[in-house]
Amino acid sequence: MSRVYNFSAGPSTLPPEVLAETQAELTEFGDTGMSLVEMSHRSDEYEAVHAEAAALAREALDVPDDFAVLFLQGGATLQFSMVPMNLLHDGDRAGYVVSGSWAEKALADARIYGDAYAAWDGEPGYDRMPAPGEVAVEDGSRYLHVTSNETIGGIQMWDWPEVGVPLVGDMSSDIMSRPLPWHRFDLVYAGAQKNLGPAGATLVFARDAAIDAARSDLGAYLRYDVHRDKSSLYNTPPVFAIWVIGKTLRWVRDRGGVVAMEVEARRKAGLVYDAIDGSDGFYRNPVDAGSRSLMNVVFRLPSE
Ligand code: PMP
Repeated sequence: MSRVYNFSAGPSTLPPEVLAETQAELTEFGDTGMSLVEMSHRSDEYEAVHAEAAALAREALDVPDDFAVLFLQGGATLQFSMVPMNLLHDGDRAGYVVSGSWAEKALADARIYGDAYAAWDGEPGYDRMPAPGEVAVEDGSRYLHVTSNETIGGIQMWDWPEVGVPLVGDMSSDIMSRPLPWHRFDLVYAGAQKNLGPAGATLVFARDAAIDAARSDLGAYLRYDVHRDKSSLYNTPPVFAIWVIGKTLRWVRDRGGVVAMEVEARRKAGLVYDAIDGSDGFYRNPVDAGSRSLMNVVFRLPSE
């Protein structure tokens, strides 16, 4: 097989080493006589895989001890609902940085569960992230939601807004690409299929105090505390996705971790931006220089 250059945002390319190792181990896990994907999620073998993946995620991003690492299902899309369902009590408000189509969706779902509003709106154009002072958080706000990388727009947040409330981040398309200032966040989530592994799992990092203060009048699957207290094994987890995420995170660690990933992303994105900027206007990147994404480089052509 000759591998193609796959620029898809997600599901996206995975390290060939990870795919090969998965293939080699797929039919029999260790000497168990069965595949990991056929095995009980309560088995010692699976529980070790599960715990290692969570530990690698924590280690990769230097996640503080007072944050839970959760593997959930439903994609980042379910987090658009779970975040406000859990964090907003009656009367609470929540600000959203509306930076593109993903933030729009997050805000639309939040409005169903609470008094969510646009703390900054990048319409029309969605060609940049806000400068820190531009975000207007209103009284009574529980959190400010940001989309750290707008996948379709190709814009990335480099200055975390300094507001008086904790941040909640949708980091689906730039998780594990740079270190994070955890003291600013109450919760970070990311669907796996872009920077972590195959589709099917969603990684959530949530501050214990935020989980403890969350609503409990929700169905079990929708409660962060249920998942934390059962180490993401309340129900059957997406075992294949978590298994391959663990392999991918080991690959990230062995190549220098997220700091090395950021250096590599700058190098690779730089090649593409240089080609765009050096094309005498044939290719055009519509994003403000300070908000250009290192993950998704978008460009326009002279005509449709
Ligand atoms: N947020 C962002 C920034 C995304 O890029 C995506 C997927 N493209 C989503 C949310 C939705 O994720 P999922 O398909 O995992 O629900």
